[in-house]
Amino acid sequence: MVGLKKTIIRSGLETLYFSGLHHLMRPLVGGVGTILTLHHVRPPRFDAFQPNRLLEVTPAFLERLLRRLKRSALDVVSLDEMHRRFITGEFKRRFVCITFDDGYKNLMRWAYPLLKQYKLPFALYVPTSFPDRLGELWWVALEAVIAQNSRIGMVINGQDQFFECGSVQEKRELYDEIYRYLRSMKTEDELRRVVRDLCVCYHVDIASFCRDLCMSWEEIAELAADPLVTIGAHTVNHMMLKKVENEATVRAEMEMSRAVLEAALGKRPQHLAYPVGDATSAGPREFRIAAELGFKTAVTTRPGVLFKVHRDHLTALPRISINGEFQRQRYLKVLMSGAATAMWNGFRRVNAA
Ligand SMILES: [Zn+2]
Repeated sequence: MVGLKKTIIRSGLETLYFSGLHHLMRPLVGGVGTILTLHHVRPPRFDAFQPNRLLEVTPAFLERLLRRLKRSALDVVSLDEMHRRFITGEFKRRFVCITFDDGYKNLMRWAYPLLKQYKLPFALYVPTSFPDRLGELWWVALEAVIAQNSRIGMVINGQDQFFECGSVQEKRELYDEIYRYLRSMKTEDELRRVVRDLCVCYHVDIASFCRDLCMSWEEIAELAADPLVTIGAHTVNHMMLKKVENEATVRAEMEMSRAVLEAALGKRPQHLAYPVGDATSAGPREFRIAAELGFKTAVTTRPGVLFKVHRDHLTALPRISINGEFQRQRYLKVLMSGAATAMWNGFRRVNAA
């Protein structure tokens, strides 16, 4: 478990490769547009052990980002508008789509007011088991198990193993090791079984995370009624689809989630996000099925900006994830140094050309 950098170990979980705005702006310079990925938006917590912090940004950080986007020469557009531009080949102005995955309550509380204030369209990809309160946020459950215990026993590769995790450092290392072990499993069923067992053993209520963290149907309906908001499908059970052997199951996960969202919200989702979404979670089979099912677009978490050629790969679009790990330190440092301003100037020149 030693020596591996967190960024490498964790590079699977809806990964955030681009840290902070200064890195964010660099990829924006190329291509015709960019889709941004965000998860949680909430005030900073000061616990030393926060292995999932890369998935959250603060409201202040989000506001800085939105303000910059608003002032930039970029068009912030809906997924439908992005799709239209691809189909019609209209790429005169670069565009950005803002997307949120999973539908966390804190979006409603902290991000939505800002997005409304700046009148920026955004999309929310909802796994329907989350508002149905049947979702298993296994990565959060694993965090809780390790946070609450100083010694953990589990069966790894058929052998009983025990881990000391009293210190923050040990907790971080153990989280990364178990996370990596889980992600290496052949099927998501196995992964879920291991985490469920851990939760039972260590008295963590895995269902509570879905209940406490995820939006209800009422909240999602409120968002869906706003013309700024696009609700996209994110499967039913938030599984890594590529690891599902049976193609019919993959198809059903996509199709069912769309049907449930349509029934609940009265509008048929046209866009999809693959859960987890990296290369181990979504591949050519998933891209094909999403296209066959008639989704206008489907997004991965493979990092990258959009080029004209993506018109032929609309169900395999890359995104740029905003990494919460570095939002303060590095971002502020670069801003203060003036490098960001210089970059923005360069960026504007590029856009004016
Ligand atoms: Zn997700």
